[in-house]
Amino acid sequence: MRLSDHPALHAAARAGAPLICLYVLDDTVGRPLGAAARWWLAQSLRSLAAGLAATGGALTLRRGPAVKVIPEVARESEAAAVYWNETAQVPHQALETKLKGSLAKLGVGSQSFPDDLLASPGMVRNKDGRGLRVFTPFWRRVLALGDPPKPLPAPKALRAGPALVSDALESYGLEPTRPDWAGGLRESWQPGETHARGRLRDFLKTAAGYASDRDRPDLPATSRLSPHLRFGEISPRQVWHAARFAAAEDPALAGGVEKFLSELGWREFCHHLLFDHPDLARENLQSGFDAFPWKRDESALAAWQRGRTGYPIVDAGLRELWHTGVMHNRVRMVVASFLVKHLLIDWRPGEKWFWDTLVDADAGSNPANWQWVAGCGADAAPYFRVFNPVLQGEKFDPDGAYVRRWVPELKHLPAKLIHQPWKATPIELASAGVELGHNYPHPFVDHARGRERALAAYAKIRRG
Ligand code: FAD
Repeated sequence: MRLSDHPALHAAARAGAPLICLYVLDDTVGRPLGAAARWWLAQSLRSLAAGLAATGGALTLRRGPAVKVIPEVARESEAAAVYWNETAQVPHQALETKLKGSLAKLGVGSQSFPDDLLASPGMVRNKDGRGLRVFTPFWRRVLALGDPPKPLPAPKALRAGPALVSDALESYGLEPTRPDWAGGLRESWQPGETHARGRLRDFLKTAAGYASDRDRPDLPATSRLSPHLRFGEISPRQVWHAARFAAAEDPALAGGVEKFLSELGWREFCHHLLFDHPDLARENLQSGFDAFPWKRDESALAAWQRGRTGYPIVDAGLRELWHTGVMHNRVRMVVASFLVKHLLIDWRPGEKWFWDTLVDADAGSNPANWQWVAGCGADAAPYFRVFNPVLQGEKFDPDGAYVRRWVPELKHLPAKLIHQPWKATPIELASAGVELGHNYPHPFVDHARGRERALAAYAKIRRG
């Protein structure tokens, strides 16, 4: 979804022939997008079409299995060759192999280019040829590969090929209409390549504070690049080189930049895990968890989804997600831990909720992080480490500004009570306008009891 550092577009433009720029909406390969990501995709396609038009190109839209649609378009347009960027995932690789075969049968050439990762999975293997399951050695290996290739410039001018019939974007129904729930997304984001680059530039100016403040949901300390990266509006190579350049120019940024790049390393790690475990969203990486006594509790799940658990930091996170399509990373960990440990609900319904509501919903990062929090993943947090939502709130949202923003019914409580309103006296509650059980729920489950219950459930699978 970008023109710059786009290896396939770069190579095709250099070949000099007229170009047809084709986007195929294919719901049959990989995981169908969730609702918030579909909204983003629509904006991103508009922005891409405008970028192409500004350089003399045009975007053709088609829908259907790419393996069928691309050869059809190649035949229709009498194309000499097809160029694309690869996706380092098993279903996409299978598609690409089939596609190469069908194009060859038509006498059409094809060229593809590694693109969405800093290092392709084949470059980071252990002695037995398997992917690494522990982050630190994994990242060390990626760093040892040296700098990724320098970003390519956007083509200055494109020669448009014959105009083909293109679907109307609106006909794909990517954006909600009745009801139109995307107001919060529109308020929060500006999708597209130009905005992605602007966001990276702005973030790097403040990157000195990243290492110390990145866990604070009340501060604007992180890059907010995740949906832009997810949709390829900016490449990890562009992020890498811009960050390293900024640190070289201003050594005060160096610590923040290294930490930031290691977070990009987690994205990489999650994608490598998905490559080795295509069922990451369905199967526990540690099969010992298959016997975990999860509870089915639809009303607890619904209260969690709506941000009505009675724990302010948990509710703030889930409401932020519903409104903006993202949630701060620290709070993602707290709400995920709350679901799987305090409510004893399987991580999969939580992962699915995130998949549908996150604009950055990512087939690797989402399930890998859910499994990490649940304790069943690679290099996972041990299950017995149960986040205390009150202490997490007090530590990372010390003045309660984040809770006040997303749970306005608590906004008049003083900082010392805002993460545990049930400790307030009736007078304190009344003067803050809080009526527990009426305008804000009582805690769904007591922390100490929830923790005990989680540990007892875990002991069952440990005993086998
Ligand atoms: P920054 O702190 O600025 O980090 C820079 C980039 O590094 C991010 O944009 C992202 O691409 C990558 N990154 C940072 N942390 C992680 C991480 N833990 N795992 C993988 N990549 C990371 N991230 C997604 O992009 N998509 C998801 O679907 C997703 N689901 C998650 C689910 C759970 C339960 C948890 C705990 C985390 C999840 N994350 C996911 C990771 C992380 O929360 C987001 O990447 C981060 O909050 C995005 O904000 P940012 O761009 O400001 O991050």
